[in-house]
Amino acid sequence: MITKGPTMCILPWMHIYTSAGGDVVPCCEAQESIMNAGNLRETWNGTKYKELRTALMRGEQHPACHVCWHNEANGIESNREINERDFWDDYADKIVAFEDGTVETAPMWIESKVSNFCNLKCKMCSTESSYKRTHDLDIIRKFSPEDNEFQHETRLLRPLELYEYLQNDPELWEDVDRLQFSGGEPIINEEHYTLLNSIPKHRRHKIQLRYASNLTHLQFKKHDLIELWRQFRHVQVKISVDGVHDVYNYIRTGAEFEDVVSNIRTLYASPVNVSLGLGLTVQAFNCFQLPEFYNYFEGMGIDWFHIGAYMLQTPKYLNIGVYPEPIRSAIQNKLKADGRFDHIVKYLDSNDRTKLWNKKTVPYAQALETRYKDADTFEGLLEKYL
Ligand code: SF4
Repeated sequence: MITKGPTMCILPWMHIYTSAGGDVVPCCEAQESIMNAGNLRETWNGTKYKELRTALMRGEQHPACHVCWHNEANGIESNREINERDFWDDYADKIVAFEDGTVETAPMWIESKVSNFCNLKCKMCSTESSYKRTHDLDIIRKFSPEDNEFQHETRLLRPLELYEYLQNDPELWEDVDRLQFSGGEPIINEEHYTLLNSIPKHRRHKIQLRYASNLTHLQFKKHDLIELWRQFRHVQVKISVDGVHDVYNYIRTGAEFEDVVSNIRTLYASPVNVSLGLGLTVQAFNCFQLPEFYNYFEGMGIDWFHIGAYMLQTPKYLNIGVYPEPIRSAIQNKLKADGRFDHIVKYLDSNDRTKLWNKKTVPYAQALETRYKDADTFEGLLEKYL
């Protein structure tokens, strides 16, 4: 039995996050804290997990969770608070745990970064999330140099050993009721299908699948995604989209906006028990198109479970604080007139990174435009939408 407390977090008692390289970490906010201690079951009750759980239970701000403590200290709702609000009542009574931090129940929510392989090369993306961006490392390194602490990922990562373990421990699935995939792009990774197909059939209708996907594909090789998804209790897909029409195509190198819209409609009309949401990364390349973005998607006739807008912080030169005058005022005026984006207007008021504009933002955009012979330019899009 676990109890709420000032630093208590439900995740380490019922959830694991696995990285593209197959490491187990407490959650997406604590990715540097590798908990590995043998196989998955050994890790789940290994020394590191027990130490984290008991510290959180005792009211200690464990260093692994520094992102949550930072957010809470700054008045921002932390991942810990969000998960307590959304999941405590669903899971707390099901967890069988002991004072030393041992948990008898297996993880009930497995969240997995299936690989860093993605079919796209989005302009703001890192090599950690899209291996194909290693093709642009010469440009990326020029503007985001490496140092002793920070290195760009150059390997294609796949959690093969971990997935083999998951495929060969059918009993583990007796407790799992939520399985979440991110990437890379999960839908075009074979391991994702191998794992889904290995889940005992009698458990599938008990499990909710969750995805962060670019939804450029609904079919991969011989796999019929819709047929597979029908076997599960519910499927929630958060689709990564960063613009509409030309802005989308400009940012998401390798994708076509109309293809994604068509996949959204196909999935929405399919027999899958699905909820669709959108994940928008607000950045220098799209902030000027926000009203058009919301008008388009809100007008699609789809009952989105969520439209989430996340402020891009890395790389700094693509954060929206880079806009110089008169572009900055033009964007603020457009957003003010719309009325839905006061928080973005305020963000621009208090974040000034304009010194990066000529030094990094513009030459970075131009270097990629030249390489990919983009149909549009950043300059042209700014002109069109402002
Ligand atoms: S306290 Fe925060 S960082 Fe730590 S496991 Fe919970 S959600 Fe993750």
